[in-house]
Amino acid sequence: MTAIHSMDAMASMNSKTGMDAILQAQLDQRHEQFLYRQRLNVASGCGTVLQVEGRSLLNFCSNDYLGLAGHPDIAVALKAGVDTYGTGSGASHLISGHSVAHQQLEEQLAEFTGRPRAILFSTGYMANMGVINALVGRHDLVLQDQLNHASLLDGGRLSRADFKRYKHNDMASLQAQLEQADASRTLIVTDGVFSMDGDLAPLPEISALAAQHNGWLMVDDAHGLGVLGATGAGIVEQQGLSAQQVPILMGTLGKSFGTFGAFVAGSEALIETLIQFARSYIYTTALPPSIACASSAALKIVRREQWRREHLQSLIGRFRRGAQQIGLELMDSQTPIQPICINDDRRVMEINQRLRDKGFMVGAIRPPSVPAGTGRLRVTLSASHTEQQIDQLLDALQSCL
Ligand SMILES: *Cc1c(COP(=O)(O)O)cnc(C)c1O
Repeated sequence: MTAIHSMDAMASMNSKTGMDAILQAQLDQRHEQFLYRQRLNVASGCGTVLQVEGRSLLNFCSNDYLGLAGHPDIAVALKAGVDTYGTGSGASHLISGHSVAHQQLEEQLAEFTGRPRAILFSTGYMANMGVINALVGRHDLVLQDQLNHASLLDGGRLSRADFKRYKHNDMASLQAQLEQADASRTLIVTDGVFSMDGDLAPLPEISALAAQHNGWLMVDDAHGLGVLGATGAGIVEQQGLSAQQVPILMGTLGKSFGTFGAFVAGSEALIETLIQFARSYIYTTALPPSIACASSAALKIVRREQWRREHLQSLIGRFRRGAQQIGLELMDSQTPIQPICINDDRRVMEINQRLRDKGFMVGAIRPPSVPAGTGRLRVTLSASHTEQQIDQLLDALQSCL
C-alpha cells in the first residue's frame, strides 16, 4: 500500500504538471531574466569587512548606517539581558511576554521621538502590516506613494480598504486622489527616506494636504531614524514635524540601531488601538527581552554619538563628489543610500560580479524591488567606513563600469 502510494507521488512530482515541474519552470524563467536571487553565507558579523566563502569583502550593502551592529556596549547589554530574562520571551505581549525591558524601551523611544507613547513590534514588516490593518478596513481608503516599501504596500493590499498609489513624491497626484476621496477614513502612507532611491518625502507638504483633507498620515522612517536630525530622531526631527503633523511614526531597530525589531510612536489612543487591533502584534511571540535591552543601549549611543552622523554625512559628500568626477549616474539622495543607475538587469549582475571579484559588495537591485527597467547598484554607506574605503570603492567602480 505505502509503496504504491509513494510511487504515485513520485509520478506526480515528475510529470510536467506536478508542483516541482511548475515551480522549476518559473525559477528557470527568473534566471533567464537575470532576476534570480541568491543568498551568501557570511561567516563574520556585520561590519565593514565581511568574510564570505573564504574571502574578505568590503561591505557597501548593509543598513548598519551608524556602525552599531558590532558595538561592544550593545553586545554587553544583550548578554546582561539574557542573564536576567533568558533567551525567549515565551509568549505574546498580551499574554505574558511583555517584559519590563520592553516597557522601558517603549518609554525611551516615545521620549526620543517626542511622541506620547510607542509600541514595539517584532519586525518592521509586521509593524506596517499591523498598523494599516488596525486603522483601516472596508469603506476606508489608503493612499500610498508608489515607491513605498513592500511591507507598506502589502499592508495596504491586505486591508480591505480601497488601496491607491500616487506618483512618487508628486503632490499634485496625491491631491487629486484626496479630492476624489469619499471614504470614512483616509490613511496616507509614505516612506520618510525611500529605501531604494534614498530621497526624502516632502513631509511638510504631505502633512498639509493630509490636514486639509482630514487624512491620517503615517511615515515609515526605517532609513531616517538614527541618521537624520540633530539627535538622530529621524526625518520628523530634521524637518521639525510635530506629532500633530505626523501622527503615526514608524521606525525600525534593525538598521541604524544595529539590533532588531521595530516600533510605532504616536498618541495614547493610537498605541492603545494597536494593542487592541494590530493582528501582527497580538498573534506573535514578543521579541526576546534581551533584544530590547540591546536596543536601549543602542539608543543611548545613537543620541550621544553625534560624530557618527557627522562622519557619515562627510562620507556621503565624498562619495557623491567622487562619483560625479568619474561620471557615474547617481540619484538625488543626500542619505547613505546611494544608488547608481544602470537600468539593465543583466548589466547590474555583471558589474556586481566584477565588483565582487575585486572584493567589494554592493546591492544588485532589480525588479520587483524596483520598477522594471530601473535596475541599479545600491551602495550604502556607514559611519564605520573610512574615507580611504570610499576612495577604494570609487576606484573599483571606475574600473568595473
Ligand atoms: C527595512 C524596512 C522595513 C522592514 O523592517 P524590518 O524590521 O527589517 O522588517 C520596513 N520599511 C522600510 C522602509 C524598510 O526599509
